[in-house]
Amino acid sequence: MSNTLDFAPMPDAQGYFGPYGGQLVPPHLKQAMDDINLAYEEIRQREDFQHELASLFADYVGRPSPIFHARRLSEKLGGAQIHLKREDLNHTGAHKINHCLGEALLARFMGKKKVIAETGAGQHGVALATACALVGIPCEIHMGQVDIEKEHPNVTKMKILGCTLVPVTRGAATLKEAVDSAFEEYLKDPQNFIYAIGSVVGPHPFPKMVRDFQSIIGREAREQFLGKHGRLPDHVAACVGGGSNAMGIFTAFLGDASVRLVGVEPAGEGIDKPGRHAATMSVGKPGELHGMACYVLEDEQGNPAAVHSIASGLDYPGVGPQHSYLKDAGRVVYQSVTDQQCLDAFMSLSRTEGIIPALESAHAVAWAMATALTLGKDEHILVNLSGRGDKDADYVAKLLGL
Ligand SMILES: *Cc1c(COP(=O)(O)O)cnc(C)c1O
Repeated sequence: MSNTLDFAPMPDAQGYFGPYGGQLVPPHLKQAMDDINLAYEEIRQREDFQHELASLFADYVGRPSPIFHARRLSEKLGGAQIHLKREDLNHTGAHKINHCLGEALLARFMGKKKVIAETGAGQHGVALATACALVGIPCEIHMGQVDIEKEHPNVTKMKILGCTLVPVTRGAATLKEAVDSAFEEYLKDPQNFIYAIGSVVGPHPFPKMVRDFQSIIGREAREQFLGKHGRLPDHVAACVGGGSNAMGIFTAFLGDASVRLVGVEPAGEGIDKPGRHAATMSVGKPGELHGMACYVLEDEQGNPAAVHSIASGLDYPGVGPQHSYLKDAGRVVYQSVTDQQCLDAFMSLSRTEGIIPALESAHAVAWAMATALTLGKDEHILVNLSGRGDKDADYVAKLLGL
């Protein structure tokens, strides 16, 4: 089942994927990151850890998530067959629970007293608060005051789940300030605290570790698809914010030369409009962000650019270092779809299949819909449906006047 040979040794011991990744952090933080890496390398070899994670995936998350053939949508388009890997059916409604469980178990193994993180729209916050409640470890989530007011259901969930919510009122009081605030808290005691990063980004070992926890998606999907169809899909597509759900499904297929891998970025209101998209791979260039070397969207002053997407989980001016490497290596192709295409896909999937996707995931669906039209009926596109759209339903209904 495992065929990740060609790309599996990545990153190297210093956390580099070619020129990308690394640990671009001050020395005392590098020590803390090295400790996390050592602990991670230890538990990943341990049978009791693998067994605990595997049983939580099965009995708590509800894995394996099924693959669903979207027959009506495919027929309507008249081209390739579209299949959905249903990460939206996971407990908490998205793929994020996969790595949050891993991070919470690692925190417990390391004897950490507190798990710290930031959250923007609240998706990472809810998944992490869930995992920490289950594992029995205190959790502190920093969130901008502006986001707290916007994302009421997620804020309520985090409170019910028992995490400490720290409102951040400085500056624009959104995600960037929340990251700064959470980081300051973490720096007070990196020995006893752990910062749980929410995607395949940040300093080594996080891009590797989060990828490994998420790679269950692709391992399942490859086996399920082979079992059902006796062949592999021609295309595998996933939306890319930081890139965790995409690395999760891509990793198992990296060694399959016949499978085209496509990362779908948010073009927002158009990639020709600076500040109104978050298409890091399509428009950005190699740089540094949040402790790693990666593709970055910069403004004219060379600072991380303002970004926008209709899907708040995708509006990040950087991208994981392994994605940056895979783009240069030509193994993954990165394309973008606009807010409008995303909305159309959101409604189409809802009305032809009865599946309301997260706006993030609807980007990958939009790419699949556009591409299916250009392909024959015997070609197969597998889409990672990273999450469900309950969180977006009110917003979309209002936008469309439903
Ligand atoms: C957070 C989120 C994303 C974006 O994160 P990645 O790390 O790029 O996967 C995508 N889909 C859903 C449903 C999310 O909640």
